[in-house]
Amino acid sequence: MHKLFTPFILLFTTLAMSQTDPRIYDIIDDISAERIKKDISTLVDFGTRHTLSDTVSSSRGIGAARRWIKSEFSTISKDCNDCLEVSYQKNFVEKGANPRITKDVWIVNVVAIQRGEKYPDRYIIMSGDIDSRVSASNDYTSDSPGANDNASGMAGTLEAARVLSKYKFDNSIVYLGLSGEEQGLFGGKGMAKYAKEKGWDIIGVFNNDMIGNIKGVDGIISNTDFRIFSEPVPPTETENERNMRRFYGGEVDGISRQLARYVHKNVKTYMPEMNPMMIYRLDRFGRGGHHRPFNDLGFAGIRIMEAHENYTQQHQDIRIENGISYGDVLEHVNFDYAKKLTAVNAINLASLAWAPPAPKELAIGGIVAPSAKFEWSKVPNAVGYKIYWRDTTSPTWDHSRYVGNVTDFTLEGVVIDNFFFGITAVGANGFESPVRFPNKIIR
Ligand SMILES: [Zn+2]
Repeated sequence: MHKLFTPFILLFTTLAMSQTDPRIYDIIDDISAERIKKDISTLVDFGTRHTLSDTVSSSRGIGAARRWIKSEFSTISKDCNDCLEVSYQKNFVEKGANPRITKDVWIVNVVAIQRGEKYPDRYIIMSGDIDSRVSASNDYTSDSPGANDNASGMAGTLEAARVLSKYKFDNSIVYLGLSGEEQGLFGGKGMAKYAKEKGWDIIGVFNNDMIGNIKGVDGIISNTDFRIFSEPVPPTETENERNMRRFYGGEVDGISRQLARYVHKNVKTYMPEMNPMMIYRLDRFGRGGHHRPFNDLGFAGIRIMEAHENYTQQHQDIRIENGISYGDVLEHVNFDYAKKLTAVNAINLASLAWAPPAPKELAIGGIVAPSAKFEWSKVPNAVGYKIYWRDTTSPTWDHSRYVGNVTDFTLEGVVIDNFFFGITAVGANGFESPVRFPNKIIR
C-alpha cells in the first residue's frame, strides 16, 4: 500500500510544483494575425458601428456588425460540437439617458459561453467592443472605421474563442462583444447587471480596448509594451473594510489588482519577450472603459491595451490636416501586435479556466511574533496551496512557498509587519487560482 501510494503523491506534488504547461505554448502559437486582420477588416467594412447607427441594413451599421459577430461565434461553435452557447444580451436605453443618447436605442451585446466542466457557474470573461465613433460623439452616419478602437479588441475576442474552443476547461469562459461603450459604457452596465442578477461567480473580466497600435503620440514605437489597468480596491467595499485597511493594509491589494498581477506573472512566464506594465489605476486619466461597470458591481476586472496610444487615430473624422492623416483606419493597426495581446488574453483565460477557485477565507496572524500564521478555507479539487509574500513596496508577489494539502501553516522567521501576504489554491494540473489577500485576523 505504501509503495503504491508514494508515487501517486509524488506525481501530484510534481505537477503542482511544475512551472509551465506545454498547452499554453500551443495556444500562443495557434493565435493567428491573419485571422485577426480579416476580422478587423470585416468590422471596418460595416462603414460605421456607431451605437445609434442603422440596424436594418445587412451591410452597414451596428445591426449588421452584431449579426456578423453572432454568426462568427456560431461558426466557431459548429467546429467544436456546439461548445459555445451564443446569444444576444439586450438593454433598452431611453433617449436622453445622457447627452450621447439622442434617440431610444437597444444596446445589444453578443455573448458566447464555453461551459466549464467542473465549475459551470464560475466565469472568466474576455470582452471587446462592437461600437465605434468619430469626432462628434453623436454622429452616427459618417464613416467610423474604429479599426483599433475597438475592432481590434473584438477581433481578438473572436480569435481567442477560435483557439480556446479546441480545449475543455474546468471553469466557463465568456467571449463578449459589448456595445454602447462610446455612448456611456451602456453595454458593460447591462451585461454586469445581468451577471449579477443571474448570480454569476465571476473570476474576472479582461476588457480589451485598443490592442493594435504600436506607434505612440509620445514618439515611442514598441510592439512589446502593453498596459494592464486595475483599480486598487473595489468601490463596493464597506466602511468597515475601509477602516480595517488602515490597520492591516490592503490599499493596493483589491481583487482587480490580484487579477492584474496574475496576468503579469503569467505573461512573464510564458511570453517573456513582452513587457507588461501594471498601471495602478482604474483606467487612463479621467477616461473610461468597459471593465468599470463590472468593477462598479464588485467584480474583478482589468483593462488590457496598447502602451502607446495615438490620439490622432481615435474618435476622429477621417481627414488630412496639416499633413497629419487623422482617423482610426485599418492601415494604422499592427496585426502582429494585436495577435500578441490576444495571446496574452488567451493564456490567462486558459490558466484561470483550468485553475481551482482561491480559498474563500484567509486568516492571518502573528502580531508581536517572529513568524506569520495562516489558516484558510479548504478548496474542493485543490491538491495544495501556495503562500505568497512580498515587500510592502513591491508590485509583484516575489516570494512563495508551496505548503501542500493543509489548511494552516506558519512561516517561521517571517515577521508579519514587513511584508504583504496572500495564498493561492493549486490544481492537480498545476494551475493556480488568483491570490487571495487575507480577509480575517487570527487573534
Ligand atoms: Zn473609444
